[in-house]
Amino acid sequence: MLRAEIIAIGSELLTPHRTDTNSLWLTERLNSVGIEVQLKTVVGDDEAILEESLRDALKRSDVIISTGGLGPTEDDITRKVFARVTGRQLKLDYEVLAGIRERFASRGYQMTPNNERQALILVGGKVLANPNGTAPGIKIDQEGKLIVLLPGPPRENQPMFDDYVMPDLERMSRGVRMASRVLKVTGLGESALDDMIAPIYKEYTNPSTTVLFTDSEIEIHLTGSADTAARAEEIVDELTDKLEEKLGYYLYSTTGESLEEVVGHRLRLKQFTIATAESCTGGLVAERITRVPGSSDYFVGSVVSYTNEVKSRLLDVPEEMIELHGAVSGEVAEAMARGVKMRTGATIGVSVTGTAGPGGGTDAVPVGTVYVGLSDDVVTSNRRLVLPGDRHLVRWRASTAALEMVRRRYLL
Ligand code: AMP
Ligand code: MG
Repeated sequence: MLRAEIIAIGSELLTPHRTDTNSLWLTERLNSVGIEVQLKTVVGDDEAILEESLRDALKRSDVIISTGGLGPTEDDITRKVFARVTGRQLKLDYEVLAGIRERFASRGYQMTPNNERQALILVGGKVLANPNGTAPGIKIDQEGKLIVLLPGPPRENQPMFDDYVMPDLERMSRGVRMASRVLKVTGLGESALDDMIAPIYKEYTNPSTTVLFTDSEIEIHLTGSADTAARAEEIVDELTDKLEEKLGYYLYSTTGESLEEVVGHRLRLKQFTIATAESCTGGLVAERITRVPGSSDYFVGSVVSYTNEVKSRLLDVPEEMIELHGAVSGEVAEAMARGVKMRTGATIGVSVTGTAGPGGGTDAVPVGTVYVGLSDDVVTSNRRLVLPGDRHLVRWRASTAALEMVRRRYLL
């Protein structure tokens, strides 16, 4: 398998204010033709360090892609350093220069002399036209290795990469084709999940398996490679089927859908409607449901009942119940779900009440305690959870638990 590496150049990428996103996009493209990224480097505008990074890269990788540092300013050092390391001269390309001059003229500007620098091309290199900016890219064949210099801005380097570099990569990777699948799991902890599935996926090196933990969900990424796209799909399907069987209802999607989309499908299929009554999530469950286009088919509305008074007045939760059990209780969660169902006329009422913190916890009801409730024509029930994390995470996880309660209830 071909090995690639990416060098992101720019001092701004070493500050807390900018992230290197180019390499993520490039990695996706490289992977799609079966080329693995084995290393990424982020370097500032520092000639010595860039030179060292590039020399190392040439020792170990077949494809080296850099982004950034092709601008007209003094700190744009990419051309200079790549010329030195590859032993090539920089030559002014008059065609490129004319193009840059024209670009300035067409906007009514006079080109300043420092812009000439952007027309310096490594001898033997191919110019990659840049219709969205002034600095062209450059690609070089260095003793069978492909080196590509791209400008920093994504809107400039992405079309250039697709038009002038992807065809080379497809050729170099000799027809290796990739298929990938994302399996989404909820309701299982990190170690419990790995216990379940590691014995299965460890049997396979192709597809490769990566398990990613996000705020309240787990994603299992499978990537398979083969000489045809169809065979790659088969390889991925085989492991997907095995994992699907093992994970059962913990697995909610193998097609990239979000939890709220999956819930939406179930509701539409059953021709049910839903309303939410939310305290500590402040409407987040409703927000997530309505992210999905077409959710007006099944979502009727929401009551954000933050105070006890609103819980009683708008959701008919008895004041005595709140006094007796507390606002954060299974009884109140059920009453909220029932109340919002009755008041809105929805088929299903779902509710959340809890303490998101950081203050307000007690021994009986510690921070992170959340009750989710569900009420339909058949049952009204609640679940108690003690969720870890800060305020933001507790609220997010509580909203996931509410959506998950709906999904589980209407699995079949
Ligand atoms: P440069 O080609 O170094 O002049 O980069 C110009 C601009 O491109 C920067 O100011 C950033 O906004 C953007 N940029 C550069 N490198 C990256 C990167 N690795 N990821 C995302 N954006 C970048
Ligand atoms: Mg820069």
